[in-house]
Amino acid sequence: MLGSMMQQQLLISSLLVHAERHHGDQEVVSRRVEGDIHRYTYRDLAARSRRMANAVASLGVKFGDRVATLAWNGYRHMELYYAVSGSGAVLHTLNPRLHPDQVVWIADHAEDQVLFFDLSFLPVIEAVAGRVKTIKAFVAMTDRSRMPATTSIPNLLCYEDLLEAQSDKFEWPTFDENSASSLCYTSGTTGNPKGALYSHRSTVLHTFAVSLPDSLNVSAREVVLPVVPMFHVNAWGLPYAACMVGAKLVFPGPFLDGKSLHELFESEGVTVSAGVPTVWQGLLAHVEANNLKFSTMRRTIIGGSACPPAMMRAFQERYDVQVLHAWGMTELSPLGTACVLKKKQLDLPAEERLAIQSKQGRAVFGVDMKIVGEDGAELPRDGKASGELLVRGPWIIKEYFKSEGGNPLVDGWFPTGDVSTIDADGFMQITDRSKDVIKSGGEWIGSIDLENIAMAHPGVAMAACIAARHPKWDERPLLVVVKKPNAELTREELLQFYDGKIAKWWTPDDVVFVDAIPLGATGKMQKNKLRDQFQDYRLP
Ligand code: ADP
Repeated sequence: MLGSMMQQQLLISSLLVHAERHHGDQEVVSRRVEGDIHRYTYRDLAARSRRMANAVASLGVKFGDRVATLAWNGYRHMELYYAVSGSGAVLHTLNPRLHPDQVVWIADHAEDQVLFFDLSFLPVIEAVAGRVKTIKAFVAMTDRSRMPATTSIPNLLCYEDLLEAQSDKFEWPTFDENSASSLCYTSGTTGNPKGALYSHRSTVLHTFAVSLPDSLNVSAREVVLPVVPMFHVNAWGLPYAACMVGAKLVFPGPFLDGKSLHELFESEGVTVSAGVPTVWQGLLAHVEANNLKFSTMRRTIIGGSACPPAMMRAFQERYDVQVLHAWGMTELSPLGTACVLKKKQLDLPAEERLAIQSKQGRAVFGVDMKIVGEDGAELPRDGKASGELLVRGPWIIKEYFKSEGGNPLVDGWFPTGDVSTIDADGFMQITDRSKDVIKSGGEWIGSIDLENIAMAHPGVAMAACIAARHPKWDERPLLVVVKKPNAELTREELLQFYDGKIAKWWTPDDVVFVDAIPLGATGKMQKNKLRDQFQDYRLP
């Protein structure tokens, strides 16, 4: 017997309709590419998104067609999130930090029809416009007065002109909730990039999960500033969650340096923010150097790479900003786990609480996870056994776009490529990515632990630990370090710093100081590049 409840499709447009009806006067504030502050309400966002939906249709975009964006976090990008997906086309967020050759490759692979871009990317678009095969029109996300006087881009259209020409009357269509809504390519650190194609259903379910109190905890009482880009896994779902709950949204545009972010946090009363550790490093350095504080910020969500405990300590102990450590992947829409303490853990001594917070957290409902050994057998959830992390659930991919790379699943589970433990309370801790693990004499050494210890040294700005070849042990850890400006720090001092903090044989064999560690398009350390750079390195 079936239940007798309404069968309503879960569609992204319903989030916007809800925000307009119930939070119509809530603000959306953006620092624009031009540098000025733009503010309007969810009511305005909804009306302009409907106009844009009409405009997208007028460009000949049909159901299921891909529409690309190359844009920062801002209100026009948000309008496209709803206009494109809401009308049944697929929003393909391109990553502007990629090399133009990769942009061309991905746009061709996705068969993008139209490309919307922020003016700061005009040079990239000029470089790729004559090379992409399927794009019929390019739209500069600006008004007439700022349109480039001369450009080599054919069919260059103006965003505000397109909107102006349309009515704000548009009925969001109803269709199968399993229809594709948006597309995001993985950064392709190995092989070609592969696309994760999300659906309306997966996105709406993920939005519920993101908003929960033991998850990212967004609500109508929060002012949310996503630093995490809308071009990478939908800014961790925050542009959808903000509409679902009616939170005030603040977009930083391209200005992600510590000074600009801190100013925006203060001027807009931001209460919660989200980003990768490398962004927060810049912010903390600015706040420290200028003796500032956070008057409204209460929480910051950190994920994308492991958050070093030293960073957690700085936020929590010095600035009274709680850190929420979270883990996810492009293939998971992206949220998998969030690290929120349970009631029984709240009264633990500070150091024990910090140790739990350094873990990547508990699975949100909807994400089922387990760890397996090399034989594929499930390992115990005892916080000690570590193995490859597998996940499954309604917002996890079952295959890549165009079935690229074949079936990625193992018995219905998606192998994450991360190596982790899971403890009896369900807290998962990543010890490494399987390709970053250091195999010393057949035993695994987790590079994240070694990096976290180095990052706790006051003279260290950034640290990466990679495997270096060793004649006896196959691989041994090599620590690559960027010093803080003016820091006096020697190899010996840093190696001594490991004493008592870790099993002796885990201590890195050597330290090299470098000016910079290469960062990828999403702000993560590119350890594959470091491994190439140090492939012939001779350990002492
Ligand atoms: P890519 O970096 O391949 O583009 P994603 O941006 O989807 O892919 O990153 C997913 C990976 O980032 C995870 O598999 C994991 O290795 C790493 N990651 C994400 N969050 C965390 C975290 N909190 N701690 C450690 N690693 C993390």
